[in-house]
This record gives sequence, structure tokens and C-alpha cells, in this order.
Amino acid sequence: MSDAVVVGSGPNGLAAALTLAAAGVQVRVVEAADSIGGGTRSSELTLPGLLHDECSGFHPLAVDTPFSRRFDLGAHGLEWLWPQVQYSHPLDGGRGAAAWRSVAQTADGLGADGRAWQSVFGYLTDNFGDITEDFLRPMVHVPAHPVKLARFGVLSLAPADLLARRWSTPQARALFAGVAAHALRPFTSPLSSAIGVALGTAAHRYGWPVAKGGSQSIAAAMTALLEAHGGKVETGVRVESLAELGAPDIVMLDVAPRAAVKIVGDRLPGRIARALTRYRHGPGVFKVDFAVAGGVPWAHAESRLAGTVHVGGTHEEIAAAEAEVNRGRMPQRPYVLVGQQYLADPDRARDGVVPVYAYAHVPAGYTGDASAALEAQIERFAPGFRDRIVGRYVRSAVAMEAHNPNYVGGDVVTGANDPLQLIFRPRAALDPYPLGVPGVYLCSAATPPGAGAHGMSGYNAAKSALGRLTA
Ligand SMILES: Cc1cc2nc3c(=O)[nH]c(=O)nc-3n(C[C@H](O)[C@H](O)[C@H](O)COP(=O)(O)OP(=O)(O)OC[C@H]3O[C@@H](n4cnc5c(N)ncnc54)[C@H](O)[C@@H]3O)c2cc1C
Repeated sequence: MSDAVVVGSGPNGLAAALTLAAAGVQVRVVEAADSIGGGTRSSELTLPGLLHDECSGFHPLAVDTPFSRRFDLGAHGLEWLWPQVQYSHPLDGGRGAAAWRSVAQTADGLGADGRAWQSVFGYLTDNFGDITEDFLRPMVHVPAHPVKLARFGVLSLAPADLLARRWSTPQARALFAGVAAHALRPFTSPLSSAIGVALGTAAHRYGWPVAKGGSQSIAAAMTALLEAHGGKVETGVRVESLAELGAPDIVMLDVAPRAAVKIVGDRLPGRIARALTRYRHGPGVFKVDFAVAGGVPWAHAESRLAGTVHVGGTHEEIAAAEAEVNRGRMPQRPYVLVGQQYLADPDRARDGVVPVYAYAHVPAGYTGDASAALEAQIERFAPGFRDRIVGRYVRSAVAMEAHNPNYVGGDVVTGANDPLQLIFRPRAALDPYPLGVPGVYLCSAATPPGAGAHGMSGYNAAKSALGRLTA
């Protein structure tokens, strides 16, 4: 029987472990933290009884993937719950825009820009199942659905500023800016639309669901299934070197590229070591979890129904804020993402006090305190918010990395989404998972398809390893 050690129990580490274990490999997962899950952990960060997602909150790209179809996490306790509005975007004066599951309903709310919204997202939503087959894997391959992928590709190639010219109203332009900002890229950069187009389409196709009982339920379900296949997970074990792992047939590293260079050490071929050392990280995030009496009093009515609220004002304001963080400067008015998971999963709240999660985009490694700027942005669109805060838990960009070493400098997506790294990550290779040392693979979000708690990087890496094991 073959054996494997997986270093790191994030969703990709667990997905790799599960895929290997289901193929009959004896698997041990070792995790540095005291709890499993990496970016899918949840805890009572502010007040007893209030459940906060520590990292990942919304899972549009986890609902229907080759991994989710292969492994029935639902049978092991994972249940998706949807808010009424998938994401919203408040503007000054109580105005704003909302993305609903239905493209038509969203388009209706966008008035003069409804038709243009439909023309960008209608076709992609109808065909997203096929499109994801091609983009949830390394980019360089013979596409299964070339025409559909090309339509997705043409929209994605554009800088976000350029794609946004399809809309003329502040509402539609801001609605797109809010989702495009997930890329953490300047809006003038090629391919800065790609993540916005994918997440915007996913909102209509799958919604932006939360996991019942917190994102920790994702890790718990994967672990339960892994154990059912005979796998084991150990926490509190930080791996510094391959030598600590014995001589398993397969080693999967759910770590950032430079950490992989350290762990593999001298055995790593020089060209791979150089490529991984050159790997670029993006800006950071500064997160504040709030306990809020009665919820956030958004002036924009639909934002009171939205799981995710993108805060930062107009398209132009968000473009300016993203440009600043990418230049290494803290904007006065940062882009802030607010999560209201409790709207879909009310058991996370208690006695009318609700958990609200918020993070601001900040420069990489930012050591300052962004709390005041973050709160001011929410207060701007929800007057009276500050008076309702009864608890806070703050995690700076630097503390993010202490919480999880994969978030280098607070980069929670484990790698800049620049054009080269969107196509080739972590290095240019047809099969980017093997590290050039027999049996050793990288499987973190630094590998395709990139960030998100969907497990697809781990699944793809495990398939690569299994292919070589039997070859
Ligand atoms: C604030 C925030 C919000 C986010 N929002 C979303 C969202 O809404 N939706 C979404 O899909 N994604 C979101 N993400 C991103 C998502 O959480 C990550 O992309 C995902 O968790 C990456 O999974 P992973 O398995 O590659 O790595 P991680 O989840 O980072 O896990 C890596 C694990 O490896 C462990 N580890 C690292 N080095 C070692 C070592 N040397 N020895 C042993 N263990 C080690 C770490 O402790 C960690 O547990 C968010 C992240 C953050 C921080």
C-alpha cells in the first residue's frame, strides 16, 4: 500500500488527502495550528454564542466542481445556505445595487444598464458548468469547451476599467467594481476583470452560499470523509523540513511557494527553487469582526438582505483604492468587504446581537491600524453602525500571517493575481503541481485554479500524484 503525508489541513490539503485516501493510499495530514481547516475555520471571536468565519465566508465556486461531485460532503454534514441577495453595493444617499440569483431580476434592478448586465452575465451563467470544467484546472490545456471558454476569456482579458465601460449608471458600474476588487489588482491591469467575471457569473449560477454552522463545517465534513477512508489528521505539528516526514511515497505541501522551498531544501531543482522564490504575493487584508446589536443599519434597503456587501463607493473610488494598495500605500477610504453570514444562517447570532465580518484591502505587510478607516467606510453607508457595535476582534495584515503562514504579508489569496500568475501559477509548467523531487507536490492555493475554499488545487495535485504513482 502506498502512503502519503499532507502538510497543512486547509481545504486544499484536505481535498488532496481525501482524493489520495479514496484511491487506497494511506494518508496522514499534519497541521501546524491547533485546529484543522486553514482558511475554513470559524470561532466565537467576539462574544459567546456568536459564530464568525475566521477567513473564507462565501463559497460560490465550491458548490459544483469535479471535487464536490466526486465526494459527497453533504452526507458528512456540509449544508449550503443562501442569503436572499448574493452581494450588494451601497452608494451615498441610500442608493445602491444588488446581485440576485436571477440575472433577469438583477438586470431589472439596474434600469438602463439591465440589458448590458444581461449581455455580459446571461450567456456565461447558462454555460458556467462547462466553463468551470476548463478554468478549475491549469490554464494551458486543450479546452473541453473552446467556444464557451473563449467567450469567458474575451471578457476576462479586459482591464476592469475597460469592461465597466459597458455600463453607464453609477449603480451597475459599482456593482461590477465591488466584485472585480476581489482580484486585489489595479483596475487598469490586463485580466483584472477575470475574477470579477467568474465570481459575478457564479453568483447567478450557484449563488454565494455560506456553510451552515460556519465554514469550519467544510473542513469537518472533509475530515469525517477522510477518516472514513482510513486517513488521519494531527494538529500542532509545524513541518520545517522533508526529513521530518520519513520516506512516504507522496508528500503534498499545502503551503506558500517560498515555504515549500524551505521545506524541500537542497533537493529542490534549482530552476524550480528560483521560480518559487520569485513567486509574487499581492496586497494584504485587515480584518475586523464585529458583534452588532440588531445588524448593520444600511441605508440601501437591499444591502440589509445581502450576504456580502461591497463597501467603498463608486467604481472610480474603488479603482483608486485598489491602485493605492497595489502601490504599497494605505488609502484613506479603502475597499471593505462586509459579510453578513447570519442572514443565511441565523443560528450564528444570539439574542439579537449578530456577527458581522469585515475586511479592508491594505498594502502588503501593512503594520498600521486600519480599524478606523474600515469602520468609517461602513458608517458612511450605514449611519448609526458605530453605536450598535458591542464587540470587536481585530486581525491586522501582519496578524493574518501569524494566524496562517500561507497568508504572506496578509495576502489571503496566496499569490498576486497578476496576468502571468493567473495563467501560470506557481510557475510555467503544463503540470505545475510536482516539485521536481519524486513524490513531492505543491497543492495550496498558489497552484491552479488559485484561491478559494473549493479544494480544487488539492484535488488536481492529488490526481497528478496518483497518475505518476501508477505510471
Ligand atoms: C479573510 C479571508 C476571507 C476569505 N474569503 C473567502 C471566501 O469568501 N471564499 C473563498 O472561497 N475563499 C476565501 N478566502 C480564501 C480561502 O480561505 C483560501 O484561498 C483557502 O483557504 C486556501 O486553501 P489552502 O488549503 O490552499 O490553504 P489554507 O487554507 O491557507 O491552509 C493551509 C494550512 O496549512 C497549514 N500550514 C502551513 N504551513 C505549514 C507547515 N509548515 N506545517 C504544517 N502546517 C502548515 C496552515 O496552518 C493552514 O492550516 C478568504 C481568506 C481570508 C483570510
